[in-house]
Parts: sequence; structure tokens; C-alpha cells
Amino acid sequence: MTVAHILAVKGRDVFTTQPHRTLQETAQLLAVKSIGAVVVTGADGAVLGIVSERDIVRALAQGGAAALIDSVSRHMTREVFTTTSSACIHDIMERMTHSRFRHVPVVEEERLAGLISIGDVVKHRIAEIETEHRALCDYIAAA
Ligand code: AMP
Repeated sequence: MTVAHILAVKGRDVFTTQPHRTLQETAQLLAVKSIGAVVVTGADGAVLGIVSERDIVRALAQGGAAALIDSVSRHMTREVFTTTSSACIHDIMERMTHSRFRHVPVVEEERLAGLISIGDVVKHRIAEIETEHRALCDYIAAA
């Protein structure tokens, strides 16, 4: 199964923010949309970074409430692992587990084109296993 399969079901809309926005604005976006991370993009749609709830918690732990007026660029992760529509879900799952992050932006022609979360990956993997299980049961019943 590929990233394109997941995007076909969940869509390609991604909540984004910009480097000059404050952590408070980003925390509000995470809360209102019930999401765990936002991708930081430039005017051209290129991925500049990612900010997750963990980055905000770290900033608050280090700087207290004053950190909320810091810019996103100060706390975002700049080296973002991204993927493409043709990538295999299994490989992405392995990378998420190994590198301990739960979000992977999808990039096409150097622009943000979707986002895969660990929840999406697990949901599709379970569906895949259930389909295999049903096929095996049918095979055994027919034998
Ligand atoms: P998460 O588990 O996605 O909430 O993120 C945990 C940490 O990894 C945070 O510091 C994020 O900024 C960072 N992070 C999240 N997604 C990625 C990614 N695709 N590539 C690199 N770092 C990431």
C-alpha cells in the first residue's frame, strides 16, 4: 500500500503555519483543529519546518508562558523527513517508529501535497491485516 492510497481516503488538506507566527497562535490552531502538528510553509508552499505539540511543551518547559510569544521559526524542527505519494506505507511506519515522530508531510514538485500521521498508518495497516485474515479464512474454508 502506498501513501497515495491513504491520501485518496483522507484528502490532501494540511493545516499550515508560517515562520513568523507565534507559538500561541500555533497552539490555538492545534487545539481548535484537534491535531498534533502543523507544517511550516513558505509563500511558495515549500516545507520549511514542522511544529508539533511536543515542541510547544518543550518551549513552555524551558521558557515558561513567555515562550508563547516566540516565533514558530525559533522552535520548529527544520530538518523534516518528508515522503512522496508513491512511497510504501510500511517504510514510513518503520521510519516513524525509529525516529519517534508521528507526522510525515507529503511533498510533490517541492510543494506540500498532504500529511500522513501515525494514526492514518495504523488504521490502514489494520484494514490491510483484516483483509488478509479474511482471505486466509475463505481459503481454508474452501479447502
Ligand atoms: P511528533 O511525534 O510528530 O509530535 O513530533 C515529535 C518531534 O519530532 C517534534 O520535535 C517534531 O517537530 C519532530 N517531527 C515531527 N514530524 C517530523 C518529521 N516528519 N521530520 C522530522 N521531525 C519531525
